[in-house]
Formats: sequence, structure tokens, C-alpha cells
Amino acid sequence: MNITRSQELFNHACTLMPGGVNSPVRAFNAVGRNPLFIDHAKGDRITDVDGNEFIDYVCSWGPGILGHAYPRVIEAVQRACTDGLTYGAPTAKESQLAEIIISKVPGVEMVRLVNSGTEAVMSAVRAARGYTGRDLIIKFTGCYHGHSDGLLVKSGSGLITNAIPDSAGVPKAYTDCTLVARYNDADSVRELFERYPDRIAALVVEPVAANMGVVPPKEGFLEFLRQITQDNGTVLIFDEVITGFRLGISGAAGYYNIMPDMVTMGKIIGGGMPLAAYGGKKDIMKTVSPIGSVYQAGTLSGNPIAVTAGLETLHALLEDESIYDRIDKKAAKIETALKSTGKVVVNRVGSLLSAFFTDNEVVDYDTAATSDTAAYAQYFGYMLENGIYIAPSQFEAMFVSDAHSEEDIQKTVEVIKAYK
Ligand SMILES: *Cc1c(COP(=O)(O)O)cnc(C)c1O
Repeated sequence: MNITRSQELFNHACTLMPGGVNSPVRAFNAVGRNPLFIDHAKGDRITDVDGNEFIDYVCSWGPGILGHAYPRVIEAVQRACTDGLTYGAPTAKESQLAEIIISKVPGVEMVRLVNSGTEAVMSAVRAARGYTGRDLIIKFTGCYHGHSDGLLVKSGSGLITNAIPDSAGVPKAYTDCTLVARYNDADSVRELFERYPDRIAALVVEPVAANMGVVPPKEGFLEFLRQITQDNGTVLIFDEVITGFRLGISGAAGYYNIMPDMVTMGKIIGGGMPLAAYGGKKDIMKTVSPIGSVYQAGTLSGNPIAVTAGLETLHALLEDESIYDRIDKKAAKIETALKSTGKVVVNRVGSLLSAFFTDNEVVDYDTAATSDTAAYAQYFGYMLENGIYIAPSQFEAMFVSDAHSEEDIQKTVEVIKAYK
């Protein structure tokens, strides 16, 4: 594989940006390579600047549920651009997007649009604190909720990959209000509620963890979280930045039939543009400025182009909900192929899956961390050489989209089965 041009661009980028990238996992550090620079993408294929084409299972880390350059989204965005890129004033389309979210996402009665998942979770936590008048929050080891100070504690993905337990530059005082429990471990949660009665504002959880690799909730775990938060007057926040509109139109909350108090979304709802959202019960959302005392704002929030991309994406999903069945079946084929290698443990929920190079069942951060990351790096290299682009980290999901053709799924299955 010729990667000369990528290499040149990367060397240059490294003189301009930390690690040559604008988000750490893109740097391929965990797989001992340098990143490919992308020229364009269409459907399920992504092409680098040297003309190498790959079947893409990163899908921009989740947004690409319809595949790249989906015609309906691109056309609508092109039309919207001619009317101006941003006004800093409300538009009718923002309400259309809000209406879809409110009508489809359990627990969301009011919503606020923001620019990134990081912002969405940070703002949801602030609203929950404002609403309850309490300071403490609970998160889980290995769950990632963006890079805001208070949530950058025992997070997944880039932090596991880069072996940074916490980030430098975060004052200890900022994380003193963050309590950490073990995913899928009810006792670890119960202990915190016993130790800090009436002090916990919010419990934030990825209802399907997907930033330590994919780790599904054990049966009864989400029900338990719903019950204990309700009993303690704590706001239950589902961070559905990955799972929202991916596990179904109603996200993980719908998939597992649990009603959270607040939900954060991102990735898919922006249709490939920078857009995210947080929402929840009216009582909680009414604490947000300008009608409440919890301040949160954004110059480009609800940007008309991003909203257009999100709206068209959600319309496409709403008009053909059988998409979810299709992507589930395709992911199941890949799961079967991975299992047949006898080298990995596979976790899958719908179109999200991870192959862990370990013998252990993976149920939380500690078991995910038993994975042989060198073995993953080797597998990554093999896949890339065979035209398949997967996440350059053991601790990320593989994303299947509606654009993955049966032919490309079959090709992927054959490449996986031939892995020695
Ligand atoms: C990606 C992600 C975030 C952060 O979203 P950004 O848009 O990258 O800031 C937050 N929570 C979860 C669960 C995510 O997967």
C-alpha cells in the first residue's frame, strides 16, 4: 500500500498541530502507525490522498449511519448554504429538529441544541446540579462523556488508548465532585449513594458503553440505576451521544425500555455536521437560561446548516425504520466471522460491535483492559492492508451503516475469516 502523500501531509501537520491531528485517537498511536489523510468518501467507502480505497467501519466515529455523502443530506445542505451559513438568531428548522427529538426520545420533553457531545453532557450535568441544588455526580470507569474537566475522570477511548489515567491540566478541585463507580456493578453504585445521601445531583451513564469497546449493560443494570436514582432524588442522565438514533429511533432508552430524566445526543443527530443536544423533563430544562438560572449559550448553537444535515438524516431514518433491522443483520454477520477466528471475544448491540483480544468476558473497564492491544494493532494492520478501515484502537466500536453493501459485508467477512 502506497501511503507517500499521507506521510508527507502528516509530517507537515505535526509541525502545525499537536500530534498532527485535531482529536487524539485519529493519530493511530495505539496501532503503531501514522494516520491516513482522507481525500473523500462515498457510501461505505473512504479514499485516502494516495488513492487507497477502504470499506469504512469508523463512519466518522458514529454519525455516518446512512453512509458518506448521502445524496439527500448533501443536496439539502447545499441548498441551505445559499441562504447564509449562520445568523445567530432562531430559525424554524431548529424547532423541527427539536420536535422530532422530543417526540421520539424517551425522557425528553424539552431540548437545547449545542455543538458537540462534550458540550451536551457538560451542560446536562450543570442543569441537573441547578435543578437539584446538589454538587456531586456519579460516572462509571471506562465511560466517556467528552473532555470537560469534571468528566475527565477514568474515561474511555482516547484516554485508555493513550494510557492517560486522568488529564493533566485538570485541577483536583474540579474532579472532587465526581464519584466513580464500576460499570455493571450495582454494589459500587449503592455504596456511593449510602456514603453521600442527599448529595448526588446526577448519575451519568452510557446505557451501552461504547468507549471502552462496546460493553452492553447486564440484564437489570439500567433498571437498577433508574430505581436507585429515583429513590434518591438524583437525575438519571443517559449519555446517548453514540447510541441515540443508532440502536433505534428511540436510542438505548427505547431499546431497553427505560425512561431517563435527561438524555444527551450527538454524532447521528448532526448528520455529519457539528451538532449535539441535551434534553429532559420540562422541570429540569426550565432551569436553563434565559428562563432559568443555569447559564448555557453558544454563538453557533442550532447552526442552520448543521440543523439541516441533522433533520435530513433523521427524516431518512424515520421514513425507513427497517434500516435498524438491516444494520443489525449486517453487524451480526461480522460478529459471526469474528467469533469464528477463535481469537476474540465479541460484544455487539445492534450495529455497534467490538472484538476484544482477550479470553475474558468483557463486562466493564477492568475486563476490557485485559485485551492484548498489540494483537489488536496487528489485526488493524491486516485489515487495513486488505482494504478495511476499522478504528485504530482496541477500545472503540465498529460502526455498521445502511450504506454497507451486502457485497462489502461479504468481503469483510472473508477477510476476517482468513485472519491468522
Ligand atoms: C463522542 C462522545 C462524546 C463527546 O462528543 P464530542 O462531540 O466528541 O464532544 C460524549 N459522550 C459519548 C458517549 C461519546 O461517544
